[in-house]
Amino acid sequence: MNYLIDRFGRKITYIRFSVTPRCNFNCIYCSSHISEEAKSKEFGKEDIAFLFRIVSGLGIEKVRITGGEPLLRKDIIDIVQSASINKNINEIVLTTNGSLLRQFAQSLKDVELTRVNISLDTLRREVFEKITQRDFFEKVMDGISASINVGLTPLKINTVLMKGINEEDIIPIAELSLKYPVIVRFIELMPVGNNSFWKDHYMSFKKALEIIKRKYELSIGTGTKGEVADYYKIVGSEGKIGFITPVSQHFCKTCNRIRITATGKIYPCLFSKEYVDIWDVVKTKREDEVIKLIKKSVEIKPAAHGAIEKDDKQFIKNMKELGG
Ligand code: SAM
Repeated sequence: MNYLIDRFGRKITYIRFSVTPRCNFNCIYCSSHISEEAKSKEFGKEDIAFLFRIVSGLGIEKVRITGGEPLLRKDIIDIVQSASINKNINEIVLTTNGSLLRQFAQSLKDVELTRVNISLDTLRREVFEKITQRDFFEKVMDGISASINVGLTPLKINTVLMKGINEEDIIPIAELSLKYPVIVRFIELMPVGNNSFWKDHYMSFKKALEIIKRKYELSIGTGTKGEVADYYKIVGSEGKIGFITPVSQHFCKTCNRIRITATGKIYPCLFSKEYVDIWDVVKTKREDEVIKLIKKSVEIKPAAHGAIEKDDKQFIKNMKELGG
């Protein structure tokens, strides 16, 4: 196998593919800005299938399909299937806001999607509307139960921690892991677009952990291979609680991923300003050139991103194009 190994000896086995920057939510922490280029072009399903085939020959084992909202793509089932037919790709995960999951859950399972991650930052309807600027709370809850029912499990729930907005949700969301076999992951807020929202609302995972520990005894749990979260279990619970800590304790040393956008840019790091453009070579199906450029993106992967808390230049320009 022609593996992808960067200058620091990290083996790249995981691709995050943002299949569209379009989204039916307008979350307050995610940038609403989409570049003119991203509004006018998007890889077709054949381009994406071509790329999945190539990366599976380069040692990629895990694919995450993200966005924007990936379920807005009419051809999403074909896209997932085009990943699952590659035998080296053994984990295909979709990250979604859940609002369209009920209608897609069974078909996604049928084409061998491994599981879904659902973003849910609150269990309070009115706070949900404030965060997402949409009245889709019931649809998301419905999507969660549909994906559990068809077996898109273990289901992971991603909750962005926001001081002054959803602290009261930390306990109820953590308690989901007590009642159901779900994995709840609290994510530290990252600066997107401009830093002002982040400065006002960032809270470290330690604060959330403290809040949970005040009410529950926690034991240390384990994650699956290559995961970015630290895991705990409320004693006696079915599920788990994880913390993803890109700000207070970055996990760059073990980073095994690159990101591809729907406009053909490969970003070696979520905070990279540098990228490699593969649009033309994918569109003209020049396989050798595509491989060369993928390798180049791995060569320029930085050792680590800078310290977010200390450096105003460390922010993500456009989350929806990059896919988180
Ligand atoms: N639409 C899908 C969804 O809602 O999950 C996929 C795209 S979304 C950009 C992917 C992930 O990025 C979500 O879990 C979301 O919560 C997370 N995210 C977006 N902005 C963030 C921020 N400023 N800080 C931390 N996580 C963020």
